Amino acid sequence: MDQRRGLLIILSSPSGAGKSTLASRLRAWDTSIRFSVSATTRAPRPGEEHGREYYFHSREEFESMVARGDMLEHAEVFGNFYGSPKGPVAAAIDAGQDVLFDIDWQGGQQVRNSSLGKHVLSIFILPPSIAELERRLRSRGQDSDDVIDARMTKSRDEISHWPEYDFVLVNDNLDDTFARLQTIVSAERLRLSQQPALVDTVRNLNKEFEERT
Ligand code: ADP
Ligand code: 5GP
Repeated sequence: MDQRRGLLIILSSPSGAGKSTLASRLRAWDTSIRFSVSATTRAPRPGEEHGREYYFHSREEFESMVARGDMLEHAEVFGNFYGSPKGPVAAAIDAGQDVLFDIDWQGGQQVRNSSLGKHVLSIFILPPSIAELERRLRSRGQDSDDVIDARMTKSRDEISHWPEYDFVLVNDNLDDTFARLQTIVSAERLRLSQQPALVDTVRNLNKEFEERT
């Protein structure tokens, strides 16, 4: 049996709070962490590649994947569909690899309520202020003014789900936030539910006790 079971690490935040930045730092810190590449019906942004940031699909293709039961969760966000393919997740966590999800609160709820829910570690990222959230969205330079306005409007709703998460981090200084994220992941990996091999360890300890008598 593997020494440890993988975690489903869910990062959610209002758009612009820094979850993609934190997700890439986490993956660079531990390259064994698998990123759950979502499927989406939104158009690729410049520089995005099919299969790397997202799997880009038509609405019809997306709907048939959902109908086939291929999605662990799916939701409509900003008028587009997004979903996490189920296939790679169970195999990875059984093999002791963590899987990282950059998904919204609707996806977070569905994964927590799924059969893999007991292996979920969910973390919500808050911006230090709304003014800073808007500044980050604008400085990212990826979206039009209309899209940024829509994301800012949606932020209030996304933020209202903060109490549903295991941990909440205010992403003020990026290095500090990342250090706290590392601490959380390192500790959660040691949870009893993540260490199936402990049963054998304790059995061996008991055997040793019996051999002494
Ligand atoms: P999200 O994935 O939550 O939409 P991003 O990770 O794309 O957000 O971050 C939005 C912008 O803010 C990016 O330009 C990123 O470099 C920047 N950013 C992220 N975290 C911080 C931080 N702690 N301080 C300043 N800028 C940050
Ligand atoms: P973006 O279009 O900026 O890449 O993502 C928009 C929002 O959709 C973000 O809040 C992101 O976390 C969320 N998202 C991305 N992939 C998924 C997914 O597979 N499922 C769900 N529920 N949300 C997703």
